[in-house]
Amino acid sequence: MEDDIGLWKQKEGVFKNKFSTKLTWEMLRSRSEYCEWHRGVWFNYATPKYAFLTWLAIHNRLSTGDRMLSWNGNVNAACSLCDTPIETRNHLFFECRYASIVWKSLVRGIMEDDYTNNWQELVTMLSTSQKTIKVFTLKYVFQATIHCLWLERNGRRHGEAPIPPDKLIRQIDRSVRNRFSSIRLVGSKKMEGGLRYWFSTRQ
Ligand SMILES: [Zn+2]
Repeated sequence: MEDDIGLWKQKEGVFKNKFSTKLTWEMLRSRSEYCEWHRGVWFNYATPKYAFLTWLAIHNRLSTGDRMLSWNGNVNAACSLCDTPIETRNHLFFECRYASIVWKSLVRGIMEDDYTNNWQELVTMLSTSQKTIKVFTLKYVFQATIHCLWLERNGRRHGEAPIPPDKLIRQIDRSVRNRFSSIRLVGSKKMEGGLRYWFSTRQ
């Protein structure tokens, strides 16, 4: 193969047999930006099914109303949680009336003055923050809430009875407690106090 002489990939689709520091650096840099938000999704003690769904959401690969509409013009694209005419990723997480009640109740004690329900702000915040109990908790609640809201949304689309926000909040609260309890069992020094921290934000 002619490529075996070691061509440097300078940008998508362009190969030259001369190494360019600047262009290669730019490629590596954009790759590390990619990893920045990656850290927000795949982290120690994440729950794989929550992380996977969050990863799909970050890539906007969930079959939300707007995307289904682009595949089939006859589909009902309204939000199943609040009847807004077009359901989008950013609407579901967490601008939706129903979703924002759940999100706010769970994280207002963590985020305090930085509270937001804007998708882009949250993803940026979670990708660049330090590794602290507070950030771990926020990331974990972010993923658990995405997962529970998506299940609730799918259930309603299939005709199941709506779950009131209070009940969904209790479900997510329980899964956060269970996570902290199981982390304690593996004896992570760093995560000690996680459960106490979570309780302190739930006042
Ligand atoms: Zn909605």
